[in-house]
Amino acid sequence: MKIRMVDLNRQLRPIKTEIDSAIQGVLEASNFIQGAPVSEFEKNLSEWLGAKHVITCANGTDALQLAFMALGLKPGDEVIVPTFTYVATAEVIALLGLRPVLVDVNPDSFNINIEAASDLITSKTKAIVPVHLYGQSADMERIMKFAADRNLYVIEDTAQAIGAEVTFSDGSTQKAGTIGHVGTTSFFPSKNLGCFGDGGAIFTNDDNLAANLKMIANHGQRIKYHHDVVGVNSRLDTLQAAILVVKLKQLNSYCEARQKAAAYYDSAFREIEYIDIPYRSDFSTHVFHQYTIKIDLRYSRDELKAYLAQNGIPSMIYYPIPLHEQKAYREFMNKDVEYPISSNLCDSVISLPMHTHLKPKELEYIVHHVKSFFQ
Ligand SMILES: *Cc1c(COP(=O)(O)O)cnc(C)c1O
Repeated sequence: MKIRMVDLNRQLRPIKTEIDSAIQGVLEASNFIQGAPVSEFEKNLSEWLGAKHVITCANGTDALQLAFMALGLKPGDEVIVPTFTYVATAEVIALLGLRPVLVDVNPDSFNINIEAASDLITSKTKAIVPVHLYGQSADMERIMKFAADRNLYVIEDTAQAIGAEVTFSDGSTQKAGTIGHVGTTSFFPSKNLGCFGDGGAIFTNDDNLAANLKMIANHGQRIKYHHDVVGVNSRLDTLQAAILVVKLKQLNSYCEARQKAAAYYDSAFREIEYIDIPYRSDFSTHVFHQYTIKIDLRYSRDELKAYLAQNGIPSMIYYPIPLHEQKAYREFMNKDVEYPISSNLCDSVISLPMHTHLKPKELEYIVHHVKSFFQ
């Protein structure tokens, strides 16, 4: 049995003929940059999400950078961002000369802690970045109200949660990434909607912002050779777009397959007192980019990882070190702020194999070995 964290080859097999013909179509047309599949994919994804505009770009990190540029944030402006996240979120903030203000997360959802964020607001705070970690949305209703009261932009980092659905107190629903002023995502191969290389996109319902984003992603030009602002070159290749047109049609079934695997894990681990299974909020579905459990600190998470590896089961630690302890980001640490939850999570979380094509026998095998570690 060869178990992988993410099995992209198995995912490819059932759609390979369709993918091959999509690729051949691009080769025949030889429209490698901004060919028709790019706008076709943007249109299809905007319909799928219920977002007015989807603007594709080169990767999820660029998507975040473009969002901050298009919102017109200026050097010195402060942006609140969780310390327990992938580095890309804070990286672009620092790169643009903005100041990432790191905040702790909630112990159950692993998402941004809004109470902690309210203590960090200053006259320079301009934006807040909820990261929908592992596939479940942060509390967007609360965050939108928090941001509106303080006049902040909300940039949703949806790289791990495309398809998660948020329910508001009035009963209405919206997809994660379409609620804030801007949402960003990544099509990195292992993401829930992955292409065969790098890719990313930005979502917005604001026409002006969409026009700005398009202009900035394309060297700051609306009309060729007329550069109104300093932009960048960040595009989704036609080949990747053609692949994504095919894969988007599978995204609902991919989400369901992940949820089914997660439900199997949940039912097996619920009874084990040393394991916390992933929290399910009442306001968001979970699309399980990762299936991440928390281990009681009386047990060694690293010993569990080694034990699983001995038995041919891969596992990952997302993330072993919070941003405030990273060399590059220490300078942004506020000495008066503590991050007890994030520090604890870095020692106690472990992510188990999670993908769209896990077999029942594999799930059984993984569960058996996790359980036997605690016996
Ligand atoms: C993957 C990821 C990104 C970056 O996406 P890339 O396409 O790899 O640049 C940003 N934020 C989060 C939370 C991610 O998981």
